[in-house]
Amino acid sequence: MCIRVRFAPIGSAPVFDPATQTIALPPGLDRSHTVTAVRAVLAELAIPQPQFGALCYCGASLDLSPRIPQQRTGEQAVTHGA
Ligand SMILES: [Zn+2]
Repeated sequence: MCIRVRFAPIGSAPVFDPATQTIALPPGLDRSHTVTAVRAVLAELAIPQPQFGALCYCGASLDLSPRIPQQRTGEQAVTHGA
């Protein structure tokens, strides 16, 4: 099973859960910070990382796209008055 990345509030999940091979990052990081944080965790796990991006221990590229449930964006929804 490949390492996965998910976003969870700090303290609600271990940074790395070996049982589920999941890295938990705080929500709201931009992409570059996400990559940096994931790489830091992977380095802690002694998984060699390339110069850019983040790799699973098997060599697969990790999917770092945010999986945060879409919050309601208030009134600026899809309504176009004019
Ligand atoms: Zn993998």
